[in-house]
Amino acid sequence: MKLRRVLIILIVLVLISSAFFSSSLARFTDEFAGSDTALIAKWNFGARGEDDTAGEFYNKGFTFDLFNAESVEPMDFGVKSFTFTGGGSDVAILYDVQMNADDLLWLTEGTVAKTVRTAVYAPFVFKIIAEINDGAVDTAPPVFSPPDYDSGWFRPVDITTDEDGYFSIFDHTNGEPFFSPGSMDSVTVTVYWQWNTSCYINDTGTAFVSPDTSTEISETYLPYYQAAYDEYYGPGGLEDRREAAADAVSDYLDEHGSPASDGTWEHDVDCELSDEEHNSEYESLDPEAKEDYLLEHGGTDDGTGGITWSAHSVLCSADHFREYNDLVDEEHDAIDACETSLMAAYDDYDTLAADALAAKESVKVIFRIKGDQIAPEQNM
Ligand SMILES: [Zn+2]
Ligand SMILES: [Zn+2]
Repeated sequence: MKLRRVLIILIVLVLISSAFFSSSLARFTDEFAGSDTALIAKWNFGARGEDDTAGEFYNKGFTFDLFNAESVEPMDFGVKSFTFTGGGSDVAILYDVQMNADDLLWLTEGTVAKTVRTAVYAPFVFKIIAEINDGAVDTAPPVFSPPDYDSGWFRPVDITTDEDGYFSIFDHTNGEPFFSPGSMDSVTVTVYWQWNTSCYINDTGTAFVSPDTSTEISETYLPYYQAAYDEYYGPGGLEDRREAAADAVSDYLDEHGSPASDGTWEHDVDCELSDEEHNSEYESLDPEAKEDYLLEHGGTDDGTGGITWSAHSVLCSADHFREYNDLVDEEHDAIDACETSLMAAYDDYDTLAADALAAKESVKVIFRIKGDQIAPEQNM
């Protein structure tokens, strides 16, 4: 008999649905080569999403709304699974699951922490696991090993895809995953996702951070953002430093006044020398300088050889312009530290990405499940 190749492609268009995006859509297509009348074997390849009725498998679409039809915001995360089965088909089935996240790549460009970036992505990371049911006849398909980032998380931008943007979520090193003829096994693919900018910010050339995909929240934010937040707003943090530097500048002006229109910066201050210090300075001077010193420091001969020093002011001896400029420099440095901080980088990046996503008509993350009939003479 002539081998009939039955190809079923299940396309799940997971729209990131939200305030930003339109509703989700799941679509299923059959593609048959040749006429349907030649299809003689039982074919029951099907799939179901975790939100579908338990035990039911569908050949005509199923539910897989990765983002739960909720608005997606920075730091959101979640997990969804879908399951597919050969369903006891008469033939062995080679299967594959391919992902396409092209819509999340090369989103926009803009300034991140004062540096212009030409490539800003939707900062999602994913982790995928695949399991087969207990007591399965066949073996669970090995999931591909993503580059970088331990623990299985990956950025779509780091994955090599075909020209249409698809890549297989399985490792094909030791052959294609399959269901044997008559197999009722089912494979469950679980997709974890996070909006995690810590995995992207190192590309910006500004703030550097070790990517952190942990999601245990002990304070207000996910750990990766909390660290940046604390560095910025925590005690002695960048915000405190900036405020202290600004206060130091205004305090200096309060204390020392400001330059005159002729470019001089002079003012009087109370003389803080004690009587003993005045006496000692006075005694060290020659007779002519002593006269000037008495005038300057309010000293009068008390008639018994001693000097009485009354309260008086003297010219402030501070190097005003140098001291003031040093304080202004420190304030500028403190402002710069805020603007180039990790938190600024996160906020800038997230804002660019969110705005770019919102401007798109739709954003799709596609999981395509394929099942191919294996020729009967092919020995699995
Ligand atoms: Zn002064
Ligand atoms: Zn004095």
